[in-house]
Amino acid sequence: NASSSSNFIKNIVVDDLQSGKHKEIITRFPPEPNGYLHIGHAKSIVLNFELADEFKGKTNLRFDDTNPTKEDVEYVESIKEDVKWLGYEWDNLYFASNYFEEMYSRAVLLIKKGLAYVCDLTPEEIREYRGTLTEPGKESPYRSRTIEENLELFDKMKNGEFKDGEKVLRAKIDMTSPNINMRDPIIYRISHSEHHRTGDKWCIYPMYDFAHPLEDAIEGITHSICTLEFADHRPLYDWVVKECEMEKVPQQIEFARLNLTNAVMSKRKLKLLVDEKVVDGWDDPRMPTVAGLRRRGYTPESIRNFCKEIGVAKAASIVDSQMLDYFIREDLNTKAPRTMAILRPLKVVITNYPEDQVEMLPIENNPDNEEAGIRQVPFSKEIYIEQEDFMENPPKKYFRLFPGNEVRLKGAYFIKCNEFIKDEAGNVTEIHCTYDPATKSGSGFTERKVKGTIHWVDAKHAVPAEFRLYEPLLLEDESTDKSFLEQINPNSMDILNGFVEDNMVNAKPQDKFQFFRHGYFNVDTKYTTEGKLVFNRIVSLKSSFKL
Ligand code: ATP
Ligand code: MG
Ligand code: MG
Repeated sequence: NASSSSNFIKNIVVDDLQSGKHKEIITRFPPEPNGYLHIGHAKSIVLNFELADEFKGKTNLRFDDTNPTKEDVEYVESIKEDVKWLGYEWDNLYFASNYFEEMYSRAVLLIKKGLAYVCDLTPEEIREYRGTLTEPGKESPYRSRTIEENLELFDKMKNGEFKDGEKVLRAKIDMTSPNINMRDPIIYRISHSEHHRTGDKWCIYPMYDFAHPLEDAIEGITHSICTLEFADHRPLYDWVVKECEMEKVPQQIEFARLNLTNAVMSKRKLKLLVDEKVVDGWDDPRMPTVAGLRRRGYTPESIRNFCKEIGVAKAASIVDSQMLDYFIREDLNTKAPRTMAILRPLKVVITNYPEDQVEMLPIENNPDNEEAGIRQVPFSKEIYIEQEDFMENPPKKYFRLFPGNEVRLKGAYFIKCNEFIKDEAGNVTEIHCTYDPATKSGSGFTERKVKGTIHWVDAKHAVPAEFRLYEPLLLEDESTDKSFLEQINPNSMDILNGFVEDNMVNAKPQDKFQFFRHGYFNVDTKYTTEGKLVFNRIVSLKSSFKL
């Protein structure tokens, strides 16, 4: 269990509790409600909630809603749903917008201390004046405004007397600091836009670097865990907490963000995929969003175990997405019943099987889970097998059906191929076999052996179903300078129509199965209807089964 193993963040917490710096730890997960959560957020959720759990502390879910034009209640709701689905309960639910009044008064405090000023430079000028890594910044001509003037102008900003972008409030720190973040960062901007919670009450909004430390301090967050890009912002974070005279002093700790192979991990890019209709919504089963993973069929356990296993590191790295597949296979191995599904059907007529006879064959539901029991599977004269399980002219080592060859039907009989029928285009449409009653599964027949076992479903009883097979959405090709949308895999989804066993007729959205030889599948929540089962392939089996 990786959660109890140690990591550098846990070591800090242990020290802080032992030294008495904190009696109780409080962490937070602080998403901006500008998109759906992705697997990277899941890592942060698992880290924050598990850390607090382990030390009997608390975790807040806080919406960092300080950027009204990009935020929406739809996202707030989806984020709450996803956190709960992952298995976590927040101790408090907060919105940064609830602190707007307090943030405003802290900004006024900075002005009164001579530590903030209203600046009229344009955004371009501000960038230019800021300097570079090798060049110190230049002071704004508005830096010397008096406290009275600043108070008056900031009040006017708040009262809507200026247009968007006309003025900003900046912290007065040090234009020559080697850390560019400390060169008089903007802490308030004007935006005459509707906020999804505060409406048009405010037309000035705090910048992230000002808002975030205040949010943490107001809530008494002890350990504010964020991703590595913010390491350079830590001096500013500490400056804000100190100069705004916050009573509680949170500690920012950075860790490496999760990157996965063949997956986009940015809400902005994920939103582009949704807006451009490259995918069918935020919950498209190809999306690395929590909603997409859920619809694909990943379980909360598999995602949590994956997040715990990858642990926390201080150095950025890319995790192979096959690792996530490993955890879903491990979780579903004992949970998911085995069943047979034919994805690309080919009809087989068993010529010597009695017309109109149906027998029920017992087949075990899960050899890896004794409690799963057995089910009765109908068998009669016509069945479906996979097209790829028959070849007219097989290569060497092909042990499935071909003229003259005998195979085992899983849980049923040996059948031998005698004839096949082709259509005008030359496609095999039907094959004719004979079965040997003596070879019935479970009868103890040992007189001869066959090398291949194939699966099947009874044609008369089979339930039609749609199968959606997925490949990565992104073709990773770092050697080219293709734009993001040009890297989209045009073949990321394959839709097939086939059959499942009749006992699947009552399968419900989110039911998960292992289809013999094909992998793990989940009943789709969006396209499954009363009369039509749609399955998403979660992951294939780790199969040595290849031609
Ligand atoms: P994105 O760029 O994907 O939108 P973000 O950091 O802007 O990510 P937020 O809503 O601000 O998204 O993130 C909420 C929390 O999730 C933050 O604490 C952030 O550090 C964390 N987080 C976001 N992406 C990752 C990731 N890939 N790995 C780990 N943590 C992440
Ligand atoms: Mg963010
Ligand atoms: Mg972002």
